[in-house]
Amino acid sequence: MKPKIATTSLAGCFGCHMSILDIDEKILDLADLVEFDKSPITDIKKFTRPIDIGLIEGGCCNSENIETLKEFRKNCKILVAVGECALMGGVPAMRNGIEIEECFDEAYLSGPTVKLNHEKIVPDDPELPKILPRVYSCNEIVEIDYFLPGCPPRADLIWEALTALLQGREIEPSYESLKFD
Ligand code: SF4
Repeated sequence: MKPKIATTSLAGCFGCHMSILDIDEKILDLADLVEFDKSPITDIKKFTRPIDIGLIEGGCCNSENIETLKEFRKNCKILVAVGECALMGGVPAMRNGIEIEECFDEAYLSGPTVKLNHEKIVPDDPELPKILPRVYSCNEIVEIDYFLPGCPPRADLIWEALTALLQGREIEPSYESLKFD
């Protein structure tokens, strides 16, 4: 049975997922080596069996992100934080340090891009995930086994990391895969 990989995007922009796909023709090699399970790539919504490697894009900005991350930790033998948003909160964490009420005011009531909200409604339907007072990195919520830096991490780094983990080796990133200029 092939090892299984699952991926998710929490508070991220899907750029890290694009970088996974950016391994170009090696994606065919990857498809030979593994089976993708729950992931936006497959659109599979539920884990079908225990997962060997879980890849997490994005940090946690709402209650749903926290639930999803904990679910991944529970179901994945190895959990990898992919990209700066997962590692440190990234761009969404720029709101950390600003009161949540001020963020809602800017987003829905008085910000320069708010034009059509004539009734001045701030969404608060109980069905919606609860926005957290700040954005959390993944390792603040669950134990993370490996961290892949970059915004997004280079495709080479993702490939090197996945092949190492699939072969039971430690990740030893090459200098080139960690060089961002
Ligand atoms: S690390 Fe960069 S590319 Fe990845 S989700 Fe965050 S902003 Fe997007």
